[in-house]
Amino acid sequence: MWTQDFDLHSHSTHSDGIHEVEEVAQKMMDSNVKYWALTDHDTISGWDEARESAKSRGIHFIPGVEITCSPGLDADEKELKRMEREGASKSWHLLAYFPHHKDSNKGIERFEKWLKPLQESRLPRMVKMLEKLEKLGMPISLEKVLEKAGGSIGRPHLAEVMVEEGYVESKNEAFEVWIGDGMPGHYVQPKPSIEEATKIVHSVGGFVSLAHPLYYGVNPEKLVQYCHSKGVDSIEAFHGSHPDSYRFELWKLADKNGMSITCGSDFHGSNHGHRPGYAVVPFNGLNADLGSSSN
Ligand SMILES: [Zn+2]
Ligand SMILES: [Zn+2]
Repeated sequence: MWTQDFDLHSHSTHSDGIHEVEEVAQKMMDSNVKYWALTDHDTISGWDEARESAKSRGIHFIPGVEITCSPGLDADEKELKRMEREGASKSWHLLAYFPHHKDSNKGIERFEKWLKPLQESRLPRMVKMLEKLEKLGMPISLEKVLEKAGGSIGRPHLAEVMVEEGYVESKNEAFEVWIGDGMPGHYVQPKPSIEEATKIVHSVGGFVSLAHPLYYGVNPEKLVQYCHSKGVDSIEAFHGSHPDSYRFELWKLADKNGMSITCGSDFHGSNHGHRPGYAVVPFNGLNADLGSSSN
């Protein structure tokens, strides 16, 4: 059986999305999504609002977070070429879900505590990047970047200010030339490993799914096996950016390794050319815990 009721990957102004939580909920509803997870980067600050917004619209809310982790494996040229990728991202993103905590955050305090420094480290990291940009002849005030960020501060906010200051013509250019992974204005903050993040999420009853494998440039077989060996539960096979053949490939590999899959649009806002929902997935392949959010 196939379903399009789930969108398990979305962002709001609590991280780098452009819409408030309430608007994201509305857009999910407009796309006929029945199970929605808000997965802002390294923060759970949007959950309470999302619970209310989902409830008033008759949508099942699944609390989620997208945790920034260090890469588990190196990218390889062959795979990058096969998938026509220019490079691999310098961090791996792990989606954590807490379907048993749809009504309150009670019982996941340990996870919240662990997450906090990751969230807070975004500010010192931004300061480091601003120092680098200043040395490169592009002074930018932290206040201006903070004004752009509703919650979790990130590079997209910085890119916006760089456009406003006239240092670059577009946000894309900011990333491609200055602040993208490995560029002169980029600063890498120490991150947790996939294994560490998985353990803490499991310890409070959640499950994890490796987000958008396409971005890592690793052979899918190697990648899925690696995740399996580190205790990762699911693979986000059905990500908005994945071609159908790649979704299928990952789904089969996950199944072979006894792992489930998840799906998500990775919706950041209507202006990104993304739309929420419309992910057709095999219902039986989905993580079984997701069903617990419906009772
Ligand atoms: Zn991501
Ligand atoms: Zn995301």
